[in-house]
Order: sequence, then C-alpha cells, then structure tokens
Amino acid sequence: AQAIPEKIIQGVDFLEKNTISQLSQRRLEEKVAIITGGARGIGEATVRLFVMHGAKVVIADIADAAGIALANSLAPSAAYVHCDVSSEKDIEMLINKTISLFGKLDILFNNAGVLGNQSKRKSIIEFDADEFDRVMQVNVRGAALGMKHAAKVMVQTKSGCIISTASVAGLMGGLGPHTYTASKHAIIGLTKNTACELGRHGIRVNCISPFGVATSMLINAWRSCEVDEECTDLEAEKMEEYVGGLANLKGVTLKAKDVAEAALYLASVESKYISGHNLVVDGGFTSSKNCVG
Ligand code: NAD
Repeated sequence: AQAIPEKIIQGVDFLEKNTISQLSQRRLEEKVAIITGGARGIGEATVRLFVMHGAKVVIADIADAAGIALANSLAPSAAYVHCDVSSEKDIEMLINKTISLFGKLDILFNNAGVLGNQSKRKSIIEFDADEFDRVMQVNVRGAALGMKHAAKVMVQTKSGCIISTASVAGLMGGLGPHTYTASKHAIIGLTKNTACELGRHGIRVNCISPFGVATSMLINAWRSCEVDEECTDLEAEKMEEYVGGLANLKGVTLKAKDVAEAALYLASVESKYISGHNLVVDGGFTSSKNCVG
C-alpha cells in the first residue's frame, strides 16, 4: 500500500495526528468520486478524507467561493464544478465534466441538502407548498437525479457506489420541519429501491443518517434564521454539547469528519457486501429513546 503524502497530511488539520498515523493504507486509491454539497460541512470533511485516501474528487456545489477555495487547496486531487443538484442539466454536465477531468466515475456521494425555513416548523396548518417544493427539489429530486445519471455510467462498467445523506429525521418524527423529515424518509426509500435495482449491475447503493452535526445548516436553524453564515466556534461547541446531551453514547462528540468516516467505509472495499443499508451515526439516539438503563 502507498503511504499518504506528507503534503496532504499537513493540509488536513481537522484530523487528529494519531488517526493519520493509524492509517496503514489509502482506501480509495485510483477511485474517482463526486461529492455534492462538498464545499462545506459534512461534504467538505468527506472531500478532505477521500482525497487523503487517494481519491480524485469533484466538489459539486452552488457555494462557488468556498468550493473553489477547497478545490484549489487540494489540487490536483480535487476540482470544483458549479452544480445545482435540482437541475437535471447541471447533473448531466457534472457527470460529463467528471469523466473528462478524471476519466471515470466510481463513487457518487449525494450529500447536498437544505433544511428549509424553520418558521414553517411549528404546525402542519402553516404548511407552505412552495417551501415543500423547494426542499424536495434539492433533497429528493437532487439525489434521484444524481442516482439516475451516475447509474447510466456505472452500469457500463458494472461497478460503482452511490451514497446519500439521509438523517435521523428520516427515521422518526419531531426532529425537523415537516418537509425536511419527509424528504429524509424519502432518501431512505429511494436508496432501498435503487439498491434493489442496481445490485445486478454490481452497483452498491447506501445512505447515512447522522444525528446533529454543528455545521452552518444546523447552527442557522438553531439561530432560527435563514442567514447562510458560517457558524462560530463557540456556537459549534454549544451545539455539540446540546446534541451530546441527547445521545445515548457519552464522552464522544459528533463531528462532520465522523460522518465522513462512515461515507469512507461505504465507499471502500471493506463494505463490499453492504447495499440498501442506512448507516445510522447517532451515538445511539434513535435506538435508545426509551432506554431506562
Ligand atoms: P451545510 O449547510 O454545511 O452543507 C450543505 C451544502 O450543500 C452546502 O455547501 C450548500 O451550499 C450545498 N447545497 C445546498 N443546496 C444545494 C444545491 N441545490 N445544489 C448543490 N449544493 C447545494 O450542511 P451539512 O450539515 O453539511 O449538510 C449536509 C447533508 O447532511 C445534508 O443533506 C443534510 O440534510 C444532512 N444532515 C445534516 C445533519 C446536521 O446535523 N448537520 C444531520 C443529518 C443530516
């Protein structure tokens, strides 16, 4: 196995040094991946981890400045493509661009997502049909379009791996706005159906359901506003403390990189017999709601 180049290790300051030294080999050597919503948050952590493991990564996002800066910092292993996942034209262009840049497509991580307007959370009576369409367009239509166009390429090579980001809000009610909850339940259903169909072509399809991660999405929701701003370290710390208090598992804080590690597992050969699965990364939250012990 090839060692991880020092330049990449130095650039990955979000990983603890001991984690890096424990890595005996790069698990995505020669692989080409697309990560949607890759400019920030969970997507950004996954871009960094996949590159560290030898993948060539296309960052697909609408946050151009952040996406370009991230791609530049990881060049030539990463490139940025502007892509609104709800647009079929953009998704087709993204797949074509990936193949023209890196020659093939092995992994699609459908991670882009929006929470929707928090003020619509309170009651179904306040349900806003336009807001419903907006969230579904990104979260569900975006993931389905990604699956469609990635599958077109992957069936030809009879291999590939599609991962999507669902949520614990895809497993139970009461954790987010109605539309977000519905959209994440839909991701899990879409994953199962697509896995069922594409298995015969050697393509694995899975999703990940994280609990609360202190990204700008969650912090903006916490602030009860729609301002799309990066969160401060203090806000992130408070959010992590709050989420940690709800989880069953104590003494561990959920970070974006922990979700990235789940994506790495599902993208690599170590999970070669896993398909149609929803990997829950929630410190035991959903399985221990009624835990009395
Ligand atoms: P984030 O806001 O930090 O990142 C989301 C990224 O998606 C941003 O870079 C944004 O620009 C991009 N994006 C939004 N709309 C897009 C579009 N139409 N096309 C392309 N890109 C678009 O949030 P995050 O927490 O990193 O969220 C990533 C995924 O994780 C989402 O699907 C989210 O629903 C899911 N998730 C997050 C949490 C959490 O607590 N943060 C928990 C469970 C699931």
